[in-house]
Amino acid sequence: MLNNGLALGVDIGGTKVAAGIVDRNGRLLFKTRVPMNVSGTDGEAMACVHEAIRATLANELGGRVSAIGVASPGPIELPSGKILQTPNLPCWRDFPLGEHVRDAYPLPMRIDNDANAAGLAEALWGAGRGFNNVFYATVGTGIGTAVVIDQKVFYGRTRTAPEGGHMTIDYRGEHLCGCGKRGCVESLASGPAIAKRARTRVMSAPVRSLILDYAENDPQRITSHVVERAWRAGDPTATDILRETAEVLAIWLGNIIDLLEPDAIVVGGGVAQLVSEWFPYIAEQLPHWSIIPQAAKTPLLLANYAADAGIVGAAALCFGGLSEATAESY
Ligand SMILES: [Zn+2]
Repeated sequence: MLNNGLALGVDIGGTKVAAGIVDRNGRLLFKTRVPMNVSGTDGEAMACVHEAIRATLANELGGRVSAIGVASPGPIELPSGKILQTPNLPCWRDFPLGEHVRDAYPLPMRIDNDANAAGLAEALWGAGRGFNNVFYATVGTGIGTAVVIDQKVFYGRTRTAPEGGHMTIDYRGEHLCGCGKRGCVESLASGPAIAKRARTRVMSAPVRSLILDYAENDPQRITSHVVERAWRAGDPTATDILRETAEVLAIWLGNIIDLLEPDAIVVGGGVAQLVSEWFPYIAEQLPHWSIIPQAAKTPLLLANYAADAGIVGAAALCFGGLSEATAESY
């Protein structure tokens, strides 16, 4: 869509709206953020989005912006850009976010969910650059996924896929996922899932775990970062919990490789750094969970953009990356 000029990327989250200016090589030239108000009216939340966009346009580079990209937690109806319903944004239900942005600025606009946007940015400019087929997973408070084939996002029949984080790993287990299904990989390997497993485990650990020390003896204060810290200090319970998490991810990625055999798997999100330190273990386990002979050699890569993935991803939507059929309807 954009051959020249700069793109303005807007990343909407439950606590902030981040926006920035990105060039065609994926360089973030300017960024800003404003608090997001999700507890008020839909209009008050929208005002936060406008504030972030206007602050970005007011930058000295603002005059060179020739498109706006928006990344928001899903599910989003495409191509209209209507936010259906998401726990992070209780202010918006069946809310025509795309229409509001499109009507307010005299610039072409594209919108997608944050996982697709971040996955596209990684495939175009980040860790997945140079690979034809990229599977992207964001592991944080949930697990989101994107499939980018020949630099185009794959959407599925009703443009709702891929929801790879809700693939079932343990259908008989007791882990209910937020989506209502049982044993999704998100319910077993996201940041909150790691913390939840630790909460149960520390009480029955044969030796007192450092996890409890770092959580000041309060199981409710256990987070994935507390588990990570204990693991770094050599705590055996934390090591067991993270090994189990890596095992779950290996089972999941083995299935993904059987289905897609991607040229690269890129992991982003809040727990990505920790997961990346378990890449060698995951690769070692992959042959047990994939029938593709070279599964273990699939490049497992840490995402480049970290906290800026949403802004740069939103901008990436403006530089192409949509399948022809989707682009035509814009
Ligand atoms: Zn689920």
